[in-house]
Order: sequence, then C-alpha cells, then structure tokens
Amino acid sequence: MLPAMTSAIVMEKTGGPEVLQWAEVELPPPGPGEVQIRHEAVGLNMIDTYHRKGVYPVELPSGLGMEGAGVVEAVGDGVDGLPVGQRVAYATGPAGSYAEARNMPWQTVVPLPDDVDARTAAAAMLKGLTVSYLIRETFAVQKGMTVLWHAAAGGVGLIACQWLSHLGVEVIGTVSTEEKAERARAHGCTHTILYKDEDFVARVRDLAPDGVPVVYDSVGAATFEGSLKCLRPRGMMVSFGNASGPVEPISPLTLTQHGSLFLTRPTLFHYTSERAELLDHAAALFGVIASGAVKLHVGQTFPLREAAEAHRALEARETEGSTVFLP
Ligand code: NDP
Repeated sequence: MLPAMTSAIVMEKTGGPEVLQWAEVELPPPGPGEVQIRHEAVGLNMIDTYHRKGVYPVELPSGLGMEGAGVVEAVGDGVDGLPVGQRVAYATGPAGSYAEARNMPWQTVVPLPDDVDARTAAAAMLKGLTVSYLIRETFAVQKGMTVLWHAAAGGVGLIACQWLSHLGVEVIGTVSTEEKAERARAHGCTHTILYKDEDFVARVRDLAPDGVPVVYDSVGAATFEGSLKCLRPRGMMVSFGNASGPVEPISPLTLTQHGSLFLTRPTLFHYTSERAELLDHAAALFGVIASGAVKLHVGQTFPLREAAEAHRALEARETEGSTVFLP
C-alpha cells in the first residue's frame, strides 16, 4: 500500500523566506501517544522566522510552525481524552504545523471549547498562552499597576493590552505607526508611544515618573537598554523576544546601576511543559475569550502555500494582530 501523503511547508536549509517550499510529504499513521490532526487553521508566529533563519537551531530538513487548530483524524495507542472528531489546538513543537495534516504528541494538544472556532484558536493559542504565563507567573501584575509593553499592536501585544486592561492594569504600549497606535488603543492600551519617532524612555518617565514595575520587551536588541531605564528600582525586566535581533550579553552590574533590577528571559515552553500547566493556561485563555474580555484580531490571512509571503510581511512590520494560515 502506498503511504498516505499530505502537503506541507518544508525547508532544506535556513535563510530568507524563499527557503520555504510547498511539498508533498509522507503522513504515517499516528504512533503510540500521538494524535493525527487535520488542520483547519494554522498560526504564524515570530518564532517561526527565528527557526527559518537559524536564530534558534533546527535539524534540517525541517517542517515549520508551532501552532495549529483542527480536528483529530486518527489516534495512536495510549492517548487519553482526545477521540477521533475532537476539535483541538496546540502551541508547541515539534515544528511542523505548516501542513494540511500532521501527527502530534497528545500531551501537547488541548480540546477546544465549542465557542472557540479554529481560526480564533490558531490566532490565540501560542500568543495567548504566552500572555497568560507572562502576566500571571513571570511577573504577576496587580490591579492599578502601569506596565510597559513593546510592540503593543502585534499578535501577542493586542491580546496583552486587552487582558491587562481587563485586570485593571494601565498599559503603555510602543508601536511603529499611528495606525498601529489606534489599533492598540482600541484594544485597551492606555498610552501609545511611536518608538521609531519618539524617545520612548522620556515618554515613559513622563507618564510614570518613578518608573514602571515591569517591562515586557519582545523587540530585543533595539529596545533592551531603553527598557532598563524605564523600570523603577527592583523592577522586573522581562525580555521575551528578538523581533529586532537578539540582545547582546550584559554584565550583572548593569542591573545594579539601573536600580537592583531583576532580569528574566522566559519562554512559553518552560511554563507549559507539564500537562497540568498547559491546561491551566489554556483554561485562563479560553476564560477571557468566553467572557469577551479578549477578542482576537486576525489582521491578515494567507494560504499555507504562501508562507514565504506571510514571513516577509511579518518581518517587514506590516502585520497587525494575529496572522492565520487557512489551509
Ligand atoms: P508580532 O505580531 O508582535 O510581530 C512582531 C512586531 O515586533 C512587529 O509587528 C513590530 O511591531 C515589532 N518590531 C519591532 N522591531 C522590529 C523589527 N526590527 N523587525 C520586525 N518586527 C519588529 O509577533 P508575535 O505576536 O508573533 O510575537 C511577538 C513577540 O513575542 C516576538 O518577539 C516573539 O518572538 C515573542 N514571543 C515570545 C514568546 C516566549 O515565550 N518567549 C512566545 C511568543 C512570542 P511595530 O511595527 O509596532 O514595531
């Protein structure tokens, strides 16, 4: 019998968006502990560009993509609670969600509530679980606080603005254009700063003269140093992304000089590696979606085979909110 096949994005080498090729690949039956998922929507994330470029090492040839939503089509031995026909989503490796169908370890897959459709799930899972752990665990924000969130109109950013505003937290958000500023404010961001045109440190100090208790910085190289200057003494610097490039090494003394700061460089996968943690963050996310506190803004969609164009747009800062592939 011929092996079953599916279509997927494959990369033979790391590099620019042109390394992403649409190809026919084998789809074996799910092995022990695996479910086979037919995707109805797939999420685009900045981490996919880091994998594509080799900023985060990958074994080649490789699939790409960490986030998908769809329906369980087949179940391997030893899988618990995910029957054929179950609607599901996931937000982790192994990379390979840019595919019409794929096998996934079942422990990484969560059932979807009836009120969360696949498109919303693909827009929400990775980015929303990230907001959940960042604001509830990495630094547990409190009502009445004012925080700084960079790239506030991005996929993670728009979810964060809404969730924080729902918790009674004021958000100072940085964005590159006036259109993005309007989008962020419409999603609960209290103050916006055009960080390409304005001195964001001076603006933050105007708004919060004593400094903010926490900075969530996913822009990386371009903003890291300024972010330290926005923190109050003993504040928390959460460096969680490299949109403008990885942050250079720093001396611990730098943290002393800026006020005995705390610095962390977290990643979602270390906050959801236990299934109970994953389910807890997913329940928190689905809760704020169900209550209407967080609405997913899908700023743009692409067919999966046009993944290269989607990557180009994301890296050119042309996207707003979440980007979803519809296979
Ligand atoms: P976004 O939709 O937020 O896109 C990235 C945004 O970063 C851009 O839209 C742009 O917004 C801003 N940006 C600033 N400088 C640059 C630059 N030089 N090149 C490109 N973009 C730039 O992406 P995601 O929502 O997918 O992810 C947001 C960030 O969160 C990423 O850095 C990602 O790596 C990180 N992340 C980290 C996780 C973790 O657990 N550590 C998990 C998930 C995401 P603007 O035009 O307004 O400047």
